[in-house]
Amino acid sequence: MAEKSMRIDVEQPTTASLPKRVSYSQMSLYQQCGLKYFFSYIDGWREPPTSALAGGSITHEVVEHLYRLSPNDRTLEAAMDLLREHGPRMLKATEYKPFESDMKMKHSVKEAIENLFVVEDPKEVVVQPEHLEMELSVPINGVNFFGKVDRFTVDGVNRVTDYKTGKSPGKFVDDKLAQPYLYALGFKTQFEIDVDEVELIFLNAKEVVRRPADSGLVIEQGEKLAQMRAGSESDVASSSWEARVSRLCDYCAFERVCPARRPEAPIPGSTACDIQLTDAGLFHK
Ligand code: SF4
Repeated sequence: MAEKSMRIDVEQPTTASLPKRVSYSQMSLYQQCGLKYFFSYIDGWREPPTSALAGGSITHEVVEHLYRLSPNDRTLEAAMDLLREHGPRMLKATEYKPFESDMKMKHSVKEAIENLFVVEDPKEVVVQPEHLEMELSVPINGVNFFGKVDRFTVDGVNRVTDYKTGKSPGKFVDDKLAQPYLYALGFKTQFEIDVDEVELIFLNAKEVVRRPADSGLVIEQGEKLAQMRAGSESDVASSSWEARVSRLCDYCAFERVCPARRPEAPIPGSTACDIQLTDAGLFHK
């Protein structure tokens, strides 16, 4: 995916260390761009929340609560009641308050929830409450992995499901499947449960993608997790990270201070860099 790749030396405290546990989103971010990973997880900058993030969080909350109801109560009316209950509450939280009047986002959330009833019949989904938002925390290939699985269903097929909001993945669908494949490995390692199938439900796009949990693809994600950890250990030891320039740079909160995009940019991690990021409205975790 990267169009150009270059090593960037950074300023980091001698005590800089990697997170103790690694999630799929950390792994994915590192694969996308090591320098962006440095800004987020070593230098500790937090990207400002986006309306897409707010909408995705509300959608997940509503869908989770819907599946906690008994099957016959999982109606569209019940889902809309849950949206009216949880949407305004979540938009009062400091991080999502800027989007309280974002009608486009609210429409998108409503559409996503309505579409759930198009892509599946929630009354027919066999799921136990303890199998919603399941937490995984287990060493995989020597890496402390953690994650949260949207839904695990057992109806003759053991299936890990993740809901997605936003656009259709199009040709990038295989990249998106990396997450449930890794979760399938987490299930096997933590609970000794074999996952038969992985599923992604793209709610706004009304697309359901199911694939067999092919053992080769599942194992491959565990290997990538170990590679990511080894790579980031080497990067933090050398204070040097790989910047991978791609089309995703246009959406990167650190683009304004990225030496791979702007030769005049300050050294990442320096005081001058911190000042620019603070001025741009970013803040430390
Ligand atoms: S602008 Fe691009 S290369 Fe620079 S940190 Fe962001 S994603 Fe990486």
